[in-house]
Amino acid sequence: GTVVLRYGHRPGRDDRMTTHVGLTARALGADRVVLPDNAGQSAETIRDITDRFGGPFAVELRDDQRAFTGGWDGTVVHLTMYGEPVQDVEGEVRAAHADGPLLVVVGGEKVPFDFYEEADFNVAVTNQPHSEVAGLAVFLDRLFEGRELEREWADADRRVVPMETGKRVVETGEADGSDGGAGGDGSDRGGGA
Ligand code: SAM
Repeated sequence: GTVVLRYGHRPGRDDRMTTHVGLTARALGADRVVLPDNAGQSAETIRDITDRFGGPFAVELRDDQRAFTGGWDGTVVHLTMYGEPVQDVEGEVRAAHADGPLLVVVGGEKVPFDFYEEADFNVAVTNQPHSEVAGLAVFLDRLFEGRELEREWADADRRVVPMETGKRVVETGEADGSDGGAGGDGSDRGGGA
């Protein structure tokens, strides 16, 4: 499997970023996100989206992130602007992932140097400073070579029907769907941009 580890979280300030790391991991083909244990609110939001829009996708809270990376039985990729260009190492990372699980580490606050040393690959999505969400998105798309865009979702209680203009969401009848509110918030027509 492909697991994303979010290192560090400042409650309040990082809530949206941490949530978006999880949502991006889910949408772009990872199987699980591991968050610091003070990021419970983000975990709840990601689980709620997974319940409604499908999975499988797991959200885990852990207080031992360094031990988790150290004990990882597989390949560790650390995303950092100081690393090797993704376009130069993506093939090697894919080959390693074909042999076993892959852990992708993204930071928020400053990442301790241990991670640089523990990582099998320090990978940069450009050597410019930007965002963990953007870095993760480009990395996963390179890793899966675009196949993640065709993924099918299981146990969703709603599904977006893609359309040129407007917004349409249908209930799939797949999940137990106790809230029953999909039709209500889903079928409005957007004004378009
Ligand atoms: N200032 C922090 C430091 O020096 O470690 C990094 C803050 S940055 C907003 C948060 C995270 O975004 C980083 O830990 C890294 O995972 C990711 N990131 C930012 N720019 C990146 C890049 N060019 N390539 C890959 N990852 C990047």
